[in-house]
Amino acid sequence: MDGAELAYDTALSTLLAVLVYVLVKVSLDAIRQWRARISVLIVGSGPVGLTAALVAVRSGKVLKLTVLDERYRTALLCRPQQIALDPRSVRFLLRLGVDFDNMEGCWRGEHFFTKVGVFQEHLLSILEQKRQKVEIGVHLGTKFSEEYLRRIPGGAWPKVIIIADGSCGDSCSVLGISSDYIVESCHAYGANATIERLDQRQVPTPEIKAHNLYFDLSAYGVDALKEPRNPTQPTAKPGFHLKIYGTFRNRYMALACTAADTKMVRFLRHTANSSIMKNIFHQSFNAYKTDIEPRLNDLTLHHMQCSRKLFEIMLSHRRVSAAYIEGDNVAVTVEGEAARVLNFDTGCGVNLGMRGLESLGTFIYKTATALDQNDVFEALSAKIQHSKQVAETFRQTGLASTLFE
Ligand SMILES: Cc1cc2nc3c(=O)[nH]c(=O)nc-3n(C[C@H](O)[C@H](O)[C@H](O)COP(=O)(O)OP(=O)(O)OC[C@H]3O[C@@H](n4cnc5c(N)ncnc54)[C@H](O)[C@@H]3O)c2cc1C
Repeated sequence: MDGAELAYDTALSTLLAVLVYVLVKVSLDAIRQWRARISVLIVGSGPVGLTAALVAVRSGKVLKLTVLDERYRTALLCRPQQIALDPRSVRFLLRLGVDFDNMEGCWRGEHFFTKVGVFQEHLLSILEQKRQKVEIGVHLGTKFSEEYLRRIPGGAWPKVIIIADGSCGDSCSVLGISSDYIVESCHAYGANATIERLDQRQVPTPEIKAHNLYFDLSAYGVDALKEPRNPTQPTAKPGFHLKIYGTFRNRYMALACTAADTKMVRFLRHTANSSIMKNIFHQSFNAYKTDIEPRLNDLTLHHMQCSRKLFEIMLSHRRVSAAYIEGDNVAVTVEGEAARVLNFDTGCGVNLGMRGLESLGTFIYKTATALDQNDVFEALSAKIQHSKQVAETFRQTGLASTLFE
């Protein structure tokens, strides 16, 4: 063998060795990724917490799933308020195995309306069916607290904790996560009203929307059609948008307009006379309600509670929406109303929570297959980015799609 042949042989065997090494490594990584399974804890069994549970199961990376709620089953499932799932949430939930044909509710176009308790019960039944695939423990009547954490044996901590404990939950503080919120304007003003009529049916009902409403406030010296700056020109904006939603028993109304500095808006934002807003809701309800439900009259008006004046619609979202607990090596993400909430009920608030969950499957997958802390940080960073984007998109277009169109 001459020198050239020897060099050629050496190069070939080196190349082969590298190839074998790469192949073995890639296969081992693939096997490790395929086998990687973690345990996940979800705090809160509201609509968002239970949907998060389905996302976790679907990620295929969960060995053990624990779901908590401080409420017992009856209290959890008897919640009367309606939820309105928009087409994007419906598609998201269909992919998770939600069977709308077997859930009490009603459709209007591609929107689905059901009661929050009915939705939660359906999700709990799907989780029940997944028990063969994943070890699932649903612990109702169990509060997530420092005491609960103390009872977890060392080494048995979940790798991921998903906090979905609603707008009043304090589970983040139990984990030492800051409860600072960023509060930002949605550039709109609004007011809400509720009507409770115990003699009416508690069935899901499609929402009613009305646009470009003006109210006759001339008795208070406010003429909607004549603005002082240009009294000869009728004003095009802001007309009000009204939504009536909820069941016949628990009726809700949302009234909103884009932020504009008109005389009517200024008046309704600053008036001390709460009967004006009550009157607006009263008249609007009677004008736009369904034909088959009773009108509000002087005898039944006391069933209605409403905002005293127009207020600025603000979105509060957590400064820290995902975190890493050093020492225990736990990645935490905050979802649903625990992560972001409006000071105004739009009648489809649950969809904002569903948007946040769209990145949860990838987050669980990346955390489960992480090689080291850096990979976990990357997964957390992507989750935080997505959470910020959900809030920003809602501020830009959310009210338009839920109320103004
Ligand atoms: C009066 C009213 C009317 C509404 N109407 C509509 C509507 O028409 N359409 C619509 O889409 N949405 C509506 N919403 C909003 C909708 O109900 C919420 O968007 C939705 O419930 C939020 O879901 P979530 O899972 O984030 O929080 P939640 O539903 O609040 O669930 C949080 C859960 O966490 C549990 N929890 C809290 N702390 C702990 C703890 N420490 N340990 C264990 N568990 C804990 C709570 O018991 C609760 O079950 C309405 C809300 C209200 C209040």
